[in-house]
Amino acid sequence: MAFLDMAHLLFFSREEDFHAARNVLSSSQRYLEVIEAPRFCAGFVPPVILLSGHKNELRAELKRHDVAFCGLVQYLRRTTRQLDGGPPRSMWKEILGALTTESVRDSASDPTRLRIELRTKLNFSGLIPLMAALVRGGAYNPQVPSLAIEEGHRLIAFFPDSVVISRCDDVYDFWFQLRCSVELICEAFEKKHFIEPVQEPRQGIGAIEIFRRLPATNCGKCGFATCMEFAVALFTQKTILELCTPLLEQDMNLRRESLLWLLQTVGLRCT
Ligand code: SF4
Repeated sequence: MAFLDMAHLLFFSREEDFHAARNVLSSSQRYLEVIEAPRFCAGFVPPVILLSGHKNELRAELKRHDVAFCGLVQYLRRTTRQLDGGPPRSMWKEILGALTTESVRDSASDPTRLRIELRTKLNFSGLIPLMAALVRGGAYNPQVPSLAIEEGHRLIAFFPDSVVISRCDDVYDFWFQLRCSVELICEAFEKKHFIEPVQEPRQGIGAIEIFRRLPATNCGKCGFATCMEFAVALFTQKTILELCTPLLEQDMNLRRESLLWLLQTVGLRCT
């Protein structure tokens, strides 16, 4: 369908916002389709709305109608896996209270993929050291505590009251990763009396991940001969990101944001 080339997905933080938006937008001339989250994500997030139209026009229309939403991203479908599976374990509500989608936007390190930030009603910091024991990898900072794991090209980070899923292929992939993330939290909760919490920091994300986000021009303005040397120095806390001045230029915003997020996630100094 050709219109999908310029279709967008509208995300909501709350179920009420979704219903209000559907009422308002259903009278417009645009193609509109409601996409429900699969059964295995029941209760996690409200449905999304697929709308035809260019982003700027849609933004203007949503503003005109005072529609509350937390993300408007281009519609893409890359996921081919079957999205089947039973409902989530009911204990998730006892652990997290509720999940609220705070924001959905293009991923800073790959604008063709999605970055979704979710907030939990209850703090689950006590489970993060146990989750770190279960996954045996990733970057773990016991001070926050935070845990970041790589799932293929995706990066999933857990903080005491939030979960950030970066570089999702599309909304279907997001739902799948969300279900897996909540499963991990439930698993740690269920086994809490049998797992030894991890006390030591773990830096599963190496200097290469930092290097990939640097401008890679080897200009030397940071005082290091190459970007790789600077990446290693950042990783070992021997320098600060601000010294890479090319990153302050306007067209480097996405890289800079991505780097700041990465450093923060693994508990490294940003400034
Ligand atoms: S200033 Fe930035 S771009 Fe230049 S060498 Fe250092 S890290 Fe690389």
